[in-house]
Amino acid sequence: MNLRNLPSVEQLLQASDGLISVYGRTLVLDAIRQTLEKIRVDVRAGAGVPSNEQILTRAQSRLIGWTKPTLEPVINATGVILHTNLGRAPLSKSTIQAMEAASSGYTNLEFDLVTGKRGSRLIHAESLLQKLTGAESAVVVNNCASAVLLVLSALAKGKKVVIPRSQLVEIGGGFRVPDVMKQSGAKLLEIGTTNKVRLSDFEEAIEQTGSLPLIMRAHRSNFKIIGFTEEPELAEIAKVAHSHNGILLDDLGSGTLIDTSKYGMEYEPTVQDSLAAGADVVMFSGDKLLGGPQAGIIIGKKALLDKIKKHPLARAVRADKTRLAGLGATLLHYLKDEAEREIPIWQMISQTREQIWARAEAWVTELGAGAVVAAESTVGGGSLPGESIPTFVLALNPKSPDKFLAKLRQNTPPVIARAENGQVLLDPRTVLPEQDATLLAALKTIL
Ligand SMILES: *Cc1c(COP(=O)(O)O)cnc(C)c1O
Repeated sequence: MNLRNLPSVEQLLQASDGLISVYGRTLVLDAIRQTLEKIRVDVRAGAGVPSNEQILTRAQSRLIGWTKPTLEPVINATGVILHTNLGRAPLSKSTIQAMEAASSGYTNLEFDLVTGKRGSRLIHAESLLQKLTGAESAVVVNNCASAVLLVLSALAKGKKVVIPRSQLVEIGGGFRVPDVMKQSGAKLLEIGTTNKVRLSDFEEAIEQTGSLPLIMRAHRSNFKIIGFTEEPELAEIAKVAHSHNGILLDDLGSGTLIDTSKYGMEYEPTVQDSLAAGADVVMFSGDKLLGGPQAGIIIGKKALLDKIKKHPLARAVRADKTRLAGLGATLLHYLKDEAEREIPIWQMISQTREQIWARAEAWVTELGAGAVVAAESTVGGGSLPGESIPTFVLALNPKSPDKFLAKLRQNTPPVIARAENGQVLLDPRTVLPEQDATLLAALKTIL
């Protein structure tokens, strides 16, 4: 037992000026105490007494572990463009600048610069959304899930809402449309069957709903119903709703302002389509195919939006200044017809096979390993289910793909790739061009 030979906490602390200047005294003290405690246990079990320097090095490892951010940037080489687990859409340069400007000082968030009086935060994205979509009014909230909750709470509480059984979907992370509807106090009036719903189903149901009937459409974001199916067009449903003085709510989920079929993909319903078809309130996400920061966007008829804006939940799910600034900058790209050039997800979607092939080839040349093979990228993030974009990937053949993937994840920054048929595949489509050098350095080290 040479526990007596161990230095005291005070002695170690006096030799820790460097650590204290980085981590602060409280944390360093804690790290030294815990390190000494562990060493005492080890020494009692027969280990030697480490030097003071060794003890401080061990304390430093603890400090590094404790202060490392849990949320860190990663390189997405999966080829899934809107990867929900990887934080969905990377933002455009001017979006990031706008968010930085809004968060590094004060803003006129709720301050009218003309009158010098209190203003409304709701105006900041509203005029852009009106211009882009032609909607009478708009509100931005925390995310699309809260948009749905707010809209139903404001308009459907205690009322029957007509919805086809084929749309009682789970969006992901346990978010189920029927549960959210119930949460808001709406009563579901389910119509049709899993695969078929007819206009007559809507007509019969709407007669039972009482005054101000409501019909809801929830976009099937992440699955398809194929085969023996039937569903009326949104415009036809809108007609039924309006002929009964009713309201049509449309939860688009992703929503897009750009026609995805331009890029050889299936057509994802656009926000403009929904409004043109006669939807009275349309809800969509800020960070899916819009390619902006997390947000929920509600647009539609002014009278309905006024009600929504006044509901107490609107305050609980409101957007902060950073998000409003970022969303405004992203929307501006669409208004200026430069979305494809400036918004990262549209840059990724619109990259040609030739461009991707050239990048994958350059990776192989630089590494002196692997091969370029044809594969598929996907859009992900609750849009375009089952749709993929032809791509080229770098394919590597490590002995154990699982171990190789684990090593990639341990890199700084972590690299996320996928294994398929015993190979590790890295898709250039989702790797930002400025990350190429970092990615290749990581691969070289591991190979
Ligand atoms: C993704 C999605 C939502 C939720 O959107 P978040 O912005 O992730 O909250 C709601 N409805 C549909 C149909 C969706 O696809």
